[in-house]
Amino acid sequence: MDFRLHYPTTIAEAVAARRSTGGSYLCGGTVLLVDHYNGKRIAQDLVSLERIEELHRIDEDEETISIGSACSFSQIEKHPAVKRYLGALYLSAREIGGPQIRNRGSIGGNYASASPASDMIAPILVLDPEIVMEDDLIVRFVFRKDEKVRSAFRKVGKRTALAVSSVSIAVSNRDGVYRVAVGSCAPKVVLCSRTSEVLSRGEGIERAKDTLMGEISPIDDRWGSAEYRRAVVRNLLERLVEEVSR
Ligand SMILES: Cc1cc2nc3c(=O)[nH]c(=O)nc-3n(C[C@H](O)[C@H](O)[C@H](O)COP(=O)(O)OP(=O)(O)OC[C@H]3O[C@@H](n4cnc5c(N)ncnc54)[C@H](O)[C@@H]3O)c2cc1C
Repeated sequence: MDFRLHYPTTIAEAVAARRSTGGSYLCGGTVLLVDHYNGKRIAQDLVSLERIEELHRIDEDEETISIGSACSFSQIEKHPAVKRYLGALYLSAREIGGPQIRNRGSIGGNYASASPASDMIAPILVLDPEIVMEDDLIVRFVFRKDEKVRSAFRKVGKRTALAVSSVSIAVSNRDGVYRVAVGSCAPKVVLCSRTSEVLSRGEGIERAKDTLMGEISPIDDRWGSAEYRRAVVRNLLERLVEEVSR
C-alpha cells in the first residue's frame, strides 16, 4: 500500500489534515506501523506529529508538569521533575519495551492505543492529570506538582525485558486518599474505584484485595492464566500500598 504522509507544523494544521483526509495521526509508529506490517488495514493518510514542536516538550512551572503527547518514554524517564513528583509514571517509562521502543514510543500513542497492556495508562489514571485535547488530537498531559502525592507502579511479564505485561498496577496516595488502577486484567486498563475507596476509608488491605478481585476480569491467554493474574495482582496491591504509605 502507498501511504500519503502529511507533515503539519502546527496543531491546527494537524487537526485539519486528519479531518480532511479521514486518516490517522502517526507519532512514533510503534503500534501503527507494527499493525501494518502484521497485515492489519490502517489508514492511507498518515498525519505525522513529528514536526509539531509543542508536542515534544516537557514544560514545568511552579505548580505543574506539562508533558506533550509526542514525548518519548526516554524523555519522560530522564526528566528530573517526573522522577521527583510522578513516581508511577517514571517507573512505567523505565519499564516499557527496550531502548529503541523507549526512544520512539510516545505517551500520547500509548494512551490513544487504549490497549489493556498499555503500561502508561494505569499511572495516568492514578495521577489524574488534565488531558488537553484539540478536536481528537491529544495535545498534552498536565500533572500537578504535589509533594504530598506518593505513587508507584509495577508490571509483571514473562521475562524482565521487552515483555508484554501479564499484570500491571499503579497506586497513588495523597494524605490517605488512594487511587488504584490495574492493566492487563480486563478488556481495558481499569481505575478500581471501589478498591480505592476501601483503602481510603482505612478498611484494611485484606478487604481491599477482596474488593479488587470484583473489579477485574482477567482471562487465560499466552501471557498468563486468569488465576495467576489474580494471585499476582493481590500481592502487588499489598506491596504498592505499603510503598506509597511509608
Ligand atoms: C517491540 C515492542 C515492545 C513494546 N513494549 C511495550 C511495553 O512494554 N509497554 C507498553 O505499554 N507498550 C509497548 N509497546 C507498544 C508501544 O510502543 C506503545 O503503546 C507506544 O506508546 C505507542 O506510541 P507511538 O507514538 O509509537 O504510537 P503510534 O504507533 O504512532 O500510534 C498509535 C495510535 O495512537 C494514535 N495516536 C498517536 N498519538 C496520538 C495523539 N497525540 N492524539 C491522538 N491519537 C494519537 C495513532 O493514530 C494510532 O492510532 C511495544 C511495542 C513494540 C513494537
